[in-house]
Amino acid sequence: MVQSKRGCLIVISGPSGSGKTTLLRELYQRCNRPLVASVSATTRRPRPGEVDGVDYHFLDEDEFARRRAAGDFLECFEVYGRGHWYGTLRHEVATGLEAGKWVVLEIDVQGTKAIVDQFPDAVTIFVRPASTAELEQRLRRRATESEDELRRRLDVARRELDQADVYRYQVVNDDLAEAVSQLCRIVETCGD
Ligand code: 5GP
Repeated sequence: MVQSKRGCLIVISGPSGSGKTTLLRELYQRCNRPLVASVSATTRRPRPGEVDGVDYHFLDEDEFARRRAAGDFLECFEVYGRGHWYGTLRHEVATGLEAGKWVVLEIDVQGTKAIVDQFPDAVTIFVRPASTAELEQRLRRRATESEDELRRRLDVARRELDQADVYRYQVVNDDLAEAVSQLCRIVETCGD
């Protein structure tokens, strides 16, 4: 790999409702590679059950802005355009790569473009739902969102789906087992 003598970088995106979280959980369990998740920072509040430093580094807006100005982020953006910032911390990635890990970033499309500019060899993967109808069904089943919120998420998802060709690979999450083995095979190309 050009970007590091030892580890490598894997970027995974997919709209909310694509089943990305389940796929990733399976990937970590099944893929026989030294995968480690990069824990992003965010200004959004923790959801019930989320743990600071594990799910995200939860920062307030001032702290986020301070770290942004200090150059602590490899990339950071206001995701969904509603005042919540998310960013990949430089040290999360550097520490993993230096330890020879395969660092996994779960970030959005704009973040992916910024990472690829800096790490052209990053393996980028986009997880697609089987269809937009399936996506809507999954979001509705979750029922954690109001109708407005659901509409907004669907709009964001459609925008993300339109940009999927930014990614080197696309995985359709139609059949979970098949999608997991496809994802594993792609991840295993890392370092080739
Ligand atoms: P959630 O708030 O549901 O955990 O995540 C919302 C969105 O933020 C997801 O689309 C996720 O990919 C994106 N995201 C999470 N961390 C980062 C990050 O560090 N950078 C960028 N650009 N997007 C992120």
